[in-house]
Amino acid sequence: MVKDIHNYAENQLNDFLEYLAIPSVSAENKGIKEASDWLVKKFEQLGAKKSEKWEKKGQNPFVYAEFEGKSSKTVLFYNHYDVQPAQPLNEWQTEPFKPTFVDGKLVARGASDDKGELMARLVMVKWFQENGGLPVNLKFFVEGEEEIGSLHVDEAVKEHAEELEADACIWEGGGKNSVNRFEVISGMKGIVSFDIEAVTADVDMHSSLACFAPNAAWRLVQGLATLKDKNGRVTVEGFYDDVDELTSVEKAAVEQMDFDEEKVKRTFGLKREFITDKPAYAFVNEPTMTINGLTSGYEGEGVKTVLPKYAKAKLDCRLVPKQNPEKIVRLVEAHLRKNGFADLKVTFNLGENAFRSDSSHAFVQLAMTTAKKVYGDDQVKYVPNAAGGGPIECFGNVLKLPIVLVGVHNAASGAHAPNEHILVSDFVQGVEYLIELLQKF
Ligand SMILES: [Zn+2]
Repeated sequence: MVKDIHNYAENQLNDFLEYLAIPSVSAENKGIKEASDWLVKKFEQLGAKKSEKWEKKGQNPFVYAEFEGKSSKTVLFYNHYDVQPAQPLNEWQTEPFKPTFVDGKLVARGASDDKGELMARLVMVKWFQENGGLPVNLKFFVEGEEEIGSLHVDEAVKEHAEELEADACIWEGGGKNSVNRFEVISGMKGIVSFDIEAVTADVDMHSSLACFAPNAAWRLVQGLATLKDKNGRVTVEGFYDDVDELTSVEKAAVEQMDFDEEKVKRTFGLKREFITDKPAYAFVNEPTMTINGLTSGYEGEGVKTVLPKYAKAKLDCRLVPKQNPEKIVRLVEAHLRKNGFADLKVTFNLGENAFRSDSSHAFVQLAMTTAKKVYGDDQVKYVPNAAGGGPIECFGNVLKLPIVLVGVHNAASGAHAPNEHILVSDFVQGVEYLIELLQKF
């Protein structure tokens, strides 16, 4: 049976190739109509009882589909049909939108993030339709703005909350980690992005006037330096107030997570030590504050002795459940004011809340036991939440669903990078996993 499913899945890659060839780059506003049309048609071909677009002016359409199964239970899938731009093109060994097989890999932009995962799900649907029908009802929510911030997901979920009702949700992402173990991840961190700006004059000045005039760049970095101490701890009052302790199950999972410090250092060529001695814990439950970029004065070739009037920093914080993005920005503002930097202007850019499913929920447990069956007992790890974010919180808290991230890529798949790929063997195993999971559900 397992072998049959693997053979079956391997022979179902044509749709996947067709889908990958659509350059649906949301950042460049390309291929959005083609990709969403293609999906609506594909869902219809697979026997969906409903397959439609949710369209609004100024938004990339959502594709929504429903399939009827043999029980009253319903699983909702979240995916996105948009991909990152393919640049830098000269670093690709194949054409990004001409999917190519290389040594058991399928290489193309979107192969792992996130077209491969949706395609594994569609192969699963096709298999059930040809083998007696779906065991449960399925709903597919596929957005087209994930790579540009999922700006309209919360709104769409609230508007369509009744239609989206389900018993459990399977998210995008997940797959095999750096030591090739399959991970069942049950949540994501949140994020808030904000800017801090300093303006100290109406015009840039000759740097000789620095003997008396204030400097926007110094002003900014001095303000920034108050936000964190030398050990990497954020010093903003109240920043950690809403961080909950992990449950005992989550703590145990963190202790068993695969985290090879030396390998990570090598992969990124880190020049300094980690800023924490508990990286696995930090991955799951430590909020961050990161300077993403700094701009001020003259940054070109040669010398320009200027005293800048203006400086700007872009920052983000990765947040854990219960931390509120807007509140974090207000705390940063209050902190700067209290520390004598009321002149620095703080601007909120965007925010997403974190969400972590209850690890004891039956669906999370089932996702784990099924994974052990398919991938092997000691080849599966439970990870309470990913370190990255996505528009997950409204699915967890508005629709009240347990959510797992179980995918088909691996740690070297190169999402967002040149030569993005998945292993065909991971794809077929992923199809088997989904079939097992839905049958048991
Ligand atoms: Zn993605």
